[in-house]
Amino acid sequence: MKQYDYLIVGSGLYGATFAFLAHQKGKRCLVIDKRPHLGGNIYCEKIEGINVHKYGAHIFHTNNKSVWDFVNGIVPFNRYTNSPLANYHGKLYNLPFNMNTFYQMWGVTTPEQAKDKINEQKAEAAELIKGRQPQNLEEQAILLVGKDIYEKLIKEYTEKQWGRKCTELPAFIIKRLPIRFVYDNNYFNDKYQGIPIGGYNILIEGLLAGIETKTKADFFADRYHWESLCDTIVYTGKMDEYFDYKLGRLDWRTVSFKTRIERTPNYQGNAVVNFTSHEQPFTRIIEHKHFEMFGQDVYDCPNTVISEEYSTEYKEGLEPYYPVNDNRNNALADNYRSLIGQERNIIFGGRLAEYQYYDMAPIIEKVFSLNI
Ligand SMILES: Cc1cc2nc3c(=O)[nH]c(=O)nc-3n(C[C@H](O)[C@H](O)[C@H](O)COP(=O)(O)OP(=O)(O)OC[C@H]3O[C@@H](n4cnc5c(N)ncnc54)[C@H](O)[C@@H]3O)c2cc1C
Repeated sequence: MKQYDYLIVGSGLYGATFAFLAHQKGKRCLVIDKRPHLGGNIYCEKIEGINVHKYGAHIFHTNNKSVWDFVNGIVPFNRYTNSPLANYHGKLYNLPFNMNTFYQMWGVTTPEQAKDKINEQKAEAAELIKGRQPQNLEEQAILLVGKDIYEKLIKEYTEKQWGRKCTELPAFIIKRLPIRFVYDNNYFNDKYQGIPIGGYNILIEGLLAGIETKTKADFFADRYHWESLCDTIVYTGKMDEYFDYKLGRLDWRTVSFKTRIERTPNYQGNAVVNFTSHEQPFTRIIEHKHFEMFGQDVYDCPNTVISEEYSTEYKEGLEPYYPVNDNRNNALADNYRSLIGQERNIIFGGRLAEYQYYDMAPIIEKVFSLNI
């Protein structure tokens, strides 16, 4: 008999949820991770008493009550509501586009006035391209929301994200631009959202309680040893790496962060501010304390930690964050999926192993669907 029923490669939300459910069923699990910490991309680093989202801001949101009850059963979540702001040359606008934004943009106060203004601008855009299909992202965006919102809140932000002019980007990147004719700055439409009280590390510690774990342990550094320990592997690392890149390398998009301590209790008054002009080279600033400290509590902690987020060209060694869903990469991922289909005693799961972007709640749904 092997030492473990499951060797779980990767301690992110997928691996940790799998381990939790298998452990509950009495299975013997070992979780390994090549990083020096557990938790994958939801790991937070404590700086100045603040949980800093080291791999990018993470806000849990879902409509699925069983997922919400599951995570709250591990650690209660707070009432954080994501309501980002946009800063364009020093003027602030609420996001997502709603009555507050339209008031700030045009001084309109009723939904009727806002609709008239947007329809007037959309008509001007339609007139410009004279009924033909939009040829690029700029034309597409103007058709959807008109030129004022496009120029102040979309154009330069998108150019910073992609490192290309909007006139050189394909129209399909923007399929919809949701607009709300109510005064509601809540970014998500989901019924439930929040941050674990005490931070995401508590969620991971709760999921992995009583389970054997090893950090700084790369599966590929000693593959045959790890394989010999278990009946089944749950693999959450990169799909192409598992096959030693034999069909080629999959591309990723990445972002990078410049994080620093500011000697003030409250730097920008909000967790997320997007910078929508070229004036700043970064796309947004995250002020981490606002995910977990509200009202006067913000001032209990004398300093604050902020991260500037930059769009960065991906190269080997950087964090693989977002799959690139173009034809080459989709076809290559499909070829790897055929190889996965031929493997035995292994489950490939999570964002790296499936080469698919998932929010956190869908990751948990995927693990639930395995019926461990
Ligand atoms: C910038 C960014 C912001 C995000 N914001 C949100 C958000 O606001 N809300 C939301 O719901 N979702 C968000 N997400 C998505 C969320 O991060 C994912 O749903 C989640 O991290 C997926 O978990 P995972 O276990 O699949 O992957 P990961 O968290 O990446 O875990 C995989 C783990 O496997 C380990 N590993 C890889 N290879 C090996 C190996 N060879 N040996 C050992 N270990 C290995 C890695 O070190 C890592 O710890 C965001 C994603 C990004 C990129």
